[in-house]
Amino acid sequence: MKRPPLRAVPEGVRLLVERFPEWKLDALLVSALPNIRYLTGFTGSNALLAITPGGVLLFTDPRYDIQAREQAGCPVKVVRGPLTAAANAWIARQRLKRVGFEKSRLLYSDYAALKEALPLGASLIAVAGWVEQLRMVKSEEEIGRIRQSVLTNSAALAASLPRIRAGISENDVAAELEYQMRLHGAEKAAFDTIVAAGERTALPHAEPGPRLIEANQLLLIDMGASQAGYASDMTRMFVLGKIGGRLRGIFNAVRKAQLAGIDSVRAGVTAGQVDRRARQVLQSEGLGKAFVHSTGHGLGLEIHEAPRIGKKDKTALRAGMVITIEPGAYIDGLGGVRIEDTVLVTSTGCEVLTPTPKELISL
Ligand code: ZN
Ligand code: ZN
Repeated sequence: MKRPPLRAVPEGVRLLVERFPEWKLDALLVSALPNIRYLTGFTGSNALLAITPGGVLLFTDPRYDIQAREQAGCPVKVVRGPLTAAANAWIARQRLKRVGFEKSRLLYSDYAALKEALPLGASLIAVAGWVEQLRMVKSEEEIGRIRQSVLTNSAALAASLPRIRAGISENDVAAELEYQMRLHGAEKAAFDTIVAAGERTALPHAEPGPRLIEANQLLLIDMGASQAGYASDMTRMFVLGKIGGRLRGIFNAVRKAQLAGIDSVRAGVTAGQVDRRARQVLQSEGLGKAFVHSTGHGLGLEIHEAPRIGKKDKTALRAGMVITIEPGAYIDGLGGVRIEDTVLVTSTGCEVLTPTPKELISL
């Protein structure tokens, strides 16, 4: 199905070019595929995007000839062989001197290939996060896609619940959840689904395995769909039978921290302030040390995007950002709890997009 490029496209390129003088750049080479997708609409797996004040050129290989012409809202150059060689020929033809590249997104081997054959007088200038900063604030169309992804994710969980019971494996649960995501319209899971039971819930990023889920255990599911390119992310806690008072106490503390985090979200507040709000609640409950990760992250074309909702992030939240709020507490040998919603930042506060209730769900 042909998808029109996102409306942000020409605007995004224009904003990038506006930064050229400050760095005295003649061009920018964009190598991160999600950044290329954001700027052009092209979804293939091999591409390099060259941006100059005069225009944009997408390099790809013959496998993507038709697709690139369908998707990309810009001229396409199909090349055989390394894209870096084609880019160097282009730099020479255009007589470009200072060419920016994405320093945290370009493979060293590609950097070396570019540098080795660079025309005389040209140099490579490292820049970081330019496109990622643009991607932080979502367009209306992007927000629409994320909303749909969130709904699909929650529908997939609801459809899977009747099958989750003691005696089936963590792997079975993960497979069912991902199958339901696709049945409900996702193209894939946005990341490897996390399913952990019992003491394994103390591993924040537990990998599901053949272990059977037992009765009277806590169960953690962290899942996200990718739909029309856009991610959703949700963590919920379940109990099969009964669990002890200590775990219930931890659940209540994490829920309180999660609600406090959400309550603090609004345009103008920094990411670090949101993290501190959630963290303070867990500290006051004696669980400060058990909260071993940051409170959340931006998401969109990728599951983890800027800003990071962490202690040291000074990014001021802006209306149109989509972030997760997901505090957790993990105790080795006992278990862990995390509750996570996908949240849209608005000028007056936020909208929790995730419709699934966040109570401890008894199965
Ligand atoms: Zn998650
Ligand atoms: Zn997350």
